[in-house]
Amino acid sequence: MTDAAQPDLDARTRELDRAHVFHSWSAQALISPPVLAGGLGSTVWDHAGNRWLDFSSQLVNTNIGHQHPAVISAIHAQADLMATVAPSTASLPRGEAARRILAHAPDGFSKVFFTNGGADAIENAIRMARLHTGRDKVLSTYRSYHGNTGAAIVSTGDWRRIPNEYARGHVHFFGPYLYRSEFWASTPEEESARALHHLERVIQSEGPAGIAAILLESVPGTAGILIPPPGYLAGVRALADKYGIVLILDEVMAGFGRTGRWFAFDGYDVVPDLIAFAKGVNSGYVPVGGVIISDVIAADFDETVFPGGLTYSGHPLAAASIVGALDAMESEGIVPHAAHIGSDVIGPGLRALQERHAIIGEVRGEGVFWAMELVTDRDSREPVSAGAMAELKKGLFSAGLLPFVQDNRIHVVPPCVVTEDEVAQALSIYDDVLGKNNEG
Ligand code: PLP
Repeated sequence: MTDAAQPDLDARTRELDRAHVFHSWSAQALISPPVLAGGLGSTVWDHAGNRWLDFSSQLVNTNIGHQHPAVISAIHAQADLMATVAPSTASLPRGEAARRILAHAPDGFSKVFFTNGGADAIENAIRMARLHTGRDKVLSTYRSYHGNTGAAIVSTGDWRRIPNEYARGHVHFFGPYLYRSEFWASTPEEESARALHHLERVIQSEGPAGIAAILLESVPGTAGILIPPPGYLAGVRALADKYGIVLILDEVMAGFGRTGRWFAFDGYDVVPDLIAFAKGVNSGYVPVGGVIISDVIAADFDETVFPGGLTYSGHPLAAASIVGALDAMESEGIVPHAAHIGSDVIGPGLRALQERHAIIGEVRGEGVFWAMELVTDRDSREPVSAGAMAELKKGLFSAGLLPFVQDNRIHVVPPCVVTEDEVAQALSIYDDVLGKNNEG
């Protein structure tokens, strides 16, 4: 539980942070990061003992919740045994972690390449696709985030790509997003068919013989939790097959329980060639990610060297934390729990909020992966301004909820272990804060 309150440590943490820590994606002088000192399950607190419901899962990674004892003790036990080991060795926790990950993968996958996180998982998946096909171009969507390294950030579609465009061979296209359709569609079926037509035209126009991979988040996360419409992912698979292109699905945010399934793509009648993962695989207790490789692509590197590697590939503390996390998720039924929470509690709860607050233009999601899209007017769908979103974020935080706010959306992304009671508390906070906002 919360340690004895030590409010002076909050001040010290803030002072050190402001003096010496350089933060991601920030103008350093303009930020004021909240202090967090501890957590348990879906709750976090500062040194003074102020508590928040963590409906961000940090960066949508604490799927198993904070401080799950099985993961902590797996890390402790491995630290006592051997805290680091070279990637060129065979290590029991690494093999056990790979075996457990593969237990949830489709047939035809029996190898895992471990990385330090999600971006380098994408980086290596792209490299494998290029080596496998002998082609160069990578197609990905404008509404995406794939990580902050060379090819991963240029595969990313959002604004973060533009100041970092140094890698070559990247082409972007529009994926489906019915609420803000690029295709003048009015039904999910129309959106799916037209988005597939657009993708095929991009493939033809770019020259299929030069395209190595189509890279997609199974459910685009940071871009807005964009649930794919019926037939879309299966249609992309068919286009990849037609033109001999490798299909990479990015499950970094959507994987390992977030959608109420082990892999998000399990719900969409599609099997990729390469699967990138990170975050939920061990809930981020130790940094790790990786690529799950289809047997067909893995076979390329049976007799030929794979030209890639990392000092910490399959680090034993990360591997042990994966074993601890996946065993606990399995034995405690955490993935079906996330599915239940999504369909029976969060979904109906957010739809009820939408009825009460005109500012909520759309609610969408599944499992513990939901977005409320906020608009100034339901007809024009004009996004709520950045200033108003900042006020809402402040209001939620003051009311005891750590939110995930992105553009004009509030993403409702608690840990998979969140209870019905905690969701009810969060819904009441969203209700109050949105109500105050509506009152002007
Ligand atoms: N892919 C997706 C879908 C992500 O959401 C992220 C991070 O948010 C990444 C890749 C990059 O992962 P990391 O930050 O671990 O490098």
